[in-house]
Amino acid sequence: MGVILRTEKAVEKLEASGLQTDKSIINLDESFARHIGLLSGQSLAECYQCVKCSAGCPVASAMDILPHQIIRMVQYGIKETVLSSQTIWICASCYTCSVRCPNGIDIAHIMDVLRQISLAEGFPPGEKNVPEFHSAFLSSVKKTGRVYELGMLARYKFRTGTFMQDMKLGAKMFLKGKIKLLPHKIRRLGEVRRMFQAASNRESK
Ligand code: SF4
Ligand code: SF4
Repeated sequence: MGVILRTEKAVEKLEASGLQTDKSIINLDESFARHIGLLSGQSLAECYQCVKCSAGCPVASAMDILPHQIIRMVQYGIKETVLSSQTIWICASCYTCSVRCPNGIDIAHIMDVLRQISLAEGFPPGEKNVPEFHSAFLSSVKKTGRVYELGMLARYKFRTGTFMQDMKLGAKMFLKGKIKLLPHKIRRLGEVRRMFQAASNRESK
């Protein structure tokens, strides 16, 4: 169970690392860093804020909080801000940050854990349609063992009501043969389904 703290010293340190903070609303949950460390298997305490992760992130310009700041905020237990940030949903899981980190911290995996906790604890996603995209992607992989783009897009657009968005791009991709009309199943689909089952069993424990 998290302990809610408000400490001026922690706020000062956060501001020194470049974060804009509102002293009146910051709640610090001291169990948060421990929880994320356990779930991700990463040693967050080893981050010394060198900023290499953020400097190499290809989508940093679209984020509301940079990756190194997310790590700092997790260290300080600023749970609500992290779990409702756009950043954790904008992260494209490209692993550039994880490869660049001089301390071997797998930041991409931490982002993944943060997304899962954010969903499990019912935080409104910082980017409203991204969880639907994740869900459409995973459902497609579960069915055929690989992404069936047309099916995935149909499901995503139906659930988000974004029928006209990116239509031109979709048409171009279709004409270039990048989007197939029919799904293509992989040979060992059973193995993929067993992985999904194992993940689902682990979640329900
Ligand atoms: S690259 Fe690693 S050590 Fe540097 S700020 Fe990012 S997480 Fe911290
Ligand atoms: S994994 Fe996410 S946070 Fe890391 S560099 Fe890629 S997009 Fe950025």
